[in-house]
Amino acid sequence: MTQAMRVFAAALATESNSFSPVPTSLRSFHEGLYYNGRDQDVPLDRPGAEGLRAWRDGAAASGFDFILGPMAFAEPSGPTVAPAYAALRDEILAGVRAALPLDVVLLHLHGAMIVEGCDDAEGDLIADVRAVVGDRVTIGVLIDPHAHLTRRMVEGATLLSAYHQWPHTDVAERAAHLFALAVEAATGAIRPVASVFDCRMISSYPTRPAPMARFVADMAQAETRRPVLSVDLIHGFPWGDTAETGTRMLVWTDQAQVEGAALAEAFGRRLFTERDALTLKLDMTLDQALDHISQPAEGLSVLCDVGDVVPAGAPGDSTFVLRRVLERGIANLCFGPLWDPMATAICLDAGIGARLPLRIGGKAGKASGDPVDVMATVRAILTAAIEPVGRQFGDRVWVTLDQDIDLILHSVRASTEAIAAVTDLGLDPRTRRAFIGKMLMHGGTAFAPIASEVITVATPGTLTFPERDIPLTKRTGAWWPKVADPFRE
Ligand SMILES: [Zn+2]
Repeated sequence: MTQAMRVFAAALATESNSFSPVPTSLRSFHEGLYYNGRDQDVPLDRPGAEGLRAWRDGAAASGFDFILGPMAFAEPSGPTVAPAYAALRDEILAGVRAALPLDVVLLHLHGAMIVEGCDDAEGDLIADVRAVVGDRVTIGVLIDPHAHLTRRMVEGATLLSAYHQWPHTDVAERAAHLFALAVEAATGAIRPVASVFDCRMISSYPTRPAPMARFVADMAQAETRRPVLSVDLIHGFPWGDTAETGTRMLVWTDQAQVEGAALAEAFGRRLFTERDALTLKLDMTLDQALDHISQPAEGLSVLCDVGDVVPAGAPGDSTFVLRRVLERGIANLCFGPLWDPMATAICLDAGIGARLPLRIGGKAGKASGDPVDVMATVRAILTAAIEPVGRQFGDRVWVTLDQDIDLILHSVRASTEAIAAVTDLGLDPRTRRAFIGKMLMHGGTAFAPIASEVITVATPGTLTFPERDIPLTKRTGAWWPKVADPFRE
């Protein structure tokens, strides 16, 4: 190639929980992580931008022309309202058109974005980009493994790959892997073909425990043997209600369809065979967990309120755990951030030191439970200008309830899994018997360094566990654990 290769990259991502009553709007993206694609030197240093940064760095290292398009990430929530998606899609398409001629388009998407009237937003966007650039341009797509891998997504992209790890600690690595393959495809050195195997499972697969870590290591090993190019387990997102919800294996080869299909099926059947060891099991019921922390212990117990996990799209304002704690008279606890703009505003107005009646949480919908009335003292306030963990929380306050329980309230719905969401306010959870947060994998990892144990707790809420009981209405065909053996149905 005589001229430098021209690479365009953009991002649009959110994970849509069909059971959340909180819609995702343009404001949700602007409050999440948003950049309009005009300033090419934007630092890309905030959490979420790792993929785009890896692509920009890769292009710079290769001497390519790199055009950075728009980037928009919203906190997982309910489906995205149609005008918001249309506006963000059109910004990306305008960016692609302005950057032509191109050799490569790289898109960092989620894969589980549902828009009002369209269950497959990523398939839609990839098709629109393809219509702009034509068949000869390479389109490489990076997704989150908690995706609905649709036929349309695979057919529209030249290559599509996901992160291997959950928690998602390998975004930059997987972006670099995709970048290298996309460059090979653009030069004609490889011709990627996809093979998909439907595992007929809807479940959750943390990749840190040894059995799943081995599975991931074997996927990575398989990728090193050409003609295999890329091997991904698409975990699926169980709380997105679509016809294609579920777990799939995706293998790309260099024109070796038969070999790719056999490899995808081998990994997929292994996942099913080893399912008892590979899938997430929750540790305790709510009352078991509260019995446990009622007993004295040396270290800090961390409880994950799994029914209301914000990074899986739940509202983050449920009160089931707080109510049960108060009913049982358990004290000496610390609750992580709970989304309540009104209570937060009241505390801000009352000021530090004020003791006041507060009505907390239980606003977003039935799955949030009812509000809880308490007497509380305002201990610390942080206003919206401070964003220590990369995303906005809005205003945050630390209150101590009369029952000797610390609680954080915040005004903008956001992931509160980072330990800084608590400690920025001057609150050290280690001063308490237990910390209770609306988090799952990432949160457990974040709090592990200060915890003597991290316990996942089955709680009521937007995230129904076990997955068998999720009220999915659109998925067709048999799937485990709804049926014992979906391959025999
Ligand atoms: Zn994910």
